[in-house]
Amino acid sequence: MKNFITSFCLVLMCLIAFSMEANADKLGKWFNPKYLKVYIPASHPRTDMMKRAFAEWSRKTNNKFVFNHITSPNPAQIEVYFVDVVPNADREIGLTRYRQTSSGKMTKAAIYIADKTADGRSLRHNEVYTVMLHEIGHAMGITEHSKDPMSIMYPYENDVQEILKSDLQTLGNIYGWD
Ligand SMILES: [Zn+2]
Repeated sequence: MKNFITSFCLVLMCLIAFSMEANADKLGKWFNPKYLKVYIPASHPRTDMMKRAFAEWSRKTNNKFVFNHITSPNPAQIEVYFVDVVPNADREIGLTRYRQTSSGKMTKAAIYIADKTADGRSLRHNEVYTVMLHEIGHAMGITEHSKDPMSIMYPYENDVQEILKSDLQTLGNIYGWD
């Protein structure tokens, strides 16, 4: 039997939830970042945009992360769901859930990308793209939000957010890059 611990972090941009085996004391990371299997539902209006967001993280990390798109969700390590609104959302427009073992190995992540806010406003394309990049950052292993409003990992969505050097350093600390 496994005991799971779940932590929630409630923010405007997103909700991040992770479960890990009891007594886990390490931050999770993927053991195969250069060959991650990703499932994105095909033929959705957001499919291509989501692929571009994954490609942007590969580019920024100089291919230290490579995402291989597969056509069924079960074998995927990262699954993407396009939803009308984020489940149980208060003000959140994205959600990432992931699971890791006590030794810190990430085993599965699920990203939810909303079409609308909880009160029914349709999100603009660039807002959705910002959320995609942000949630992928969580799914790669960044659990903390940035305090820098320019950072893609800042918890409140705005028009100027990008993947910054500081975000790449956060990943570098997790993965042990120099
Ligand atoms: Zn977040």
